[in-house]
Amino acid sequence: MRKKPRIGIMGGTFDPIHYGHLVTAEEALVQFNLDRVVFMPTGNPVRKTHERVSDPEHRYNMTVLATASNPDFEVSRLEVDRPGPTYTVATLEAMHARLGLQAELFFITGADAVFDILTWKDPERLAELTTFIAATRPGYDLEGARAAYTERGLAARVEFVEVPALAISSTDIRRRVIERRPVRYLLPENVAAYIEKHSLYREDS
Ligand code: ATP
Ligand code: MG
Repeated sequence: MRKKPRIGIMGGTFDPIHYGHLVTAEEALVQFNLDRVVFMPTGNPVRKTHERVSDPEHRYNMTVLATASNPDFEVSRLEVDRPGPTYTVATLEAMHARLGLQAELFFITGADAVFDILTWKDPERLAELTTFIAATRPGYDLEGARAAYTERGLAARVEFVEVPALAISSTDIRRRVIERRPVRYLLPENVAAYIEKHSLYREDS
């Protein structure tokens, strides 16, 4: 009998993708024995704070560049090609439909984002569709977080992974580009070159 495929999904705006995302995906892949991780750039994000999100094609291209050398990573156009706002439940339903019910899905996010699950639409349905892998900083209060999920009956569906690169953020990288401060070593060089080539994040672009 073939084993159930275990598929990680790393959703994000990826504006731009950086080593925090990549390290987290790799760590989740190994620790949870995933067959692969699918990066899923959002189409039109519903909960995004910075007002100007780059064109989905740019965010998709940067994600492809960043993941191209890893045979266990792939990038999906599912959300990029879907008109209208992105809802995680819809994405997970679509992934199940595509992969067949046999596949086990693991939705990888920052631990702070997992807290938002509790306020998302239909957390029970989400918990049926996927296990969450929450990226935490070394030293994070795992016990406290577990207790909060236990209280809401979600503990069995949330796993934790420690990531040293958690302080890197796209917001900081965008700010650095505007201020012409270095971004090297925060994200792959080919992504930095792509940002430069297309003048992304410049105030005048
Ligand atoms: P922004 O600063 O614009 O919010 P971001 O750096 O948080 O961007 P997103 O595309 O919003 O990047 O994040 C995609 C996913 O990756 C989210 O689940 C988020 O919690 C997680 N994430 C973001 N930064 C890191 C990081 N440094 N390490 C691990 N996970 C991260
Ligand atoms: Mg974010």
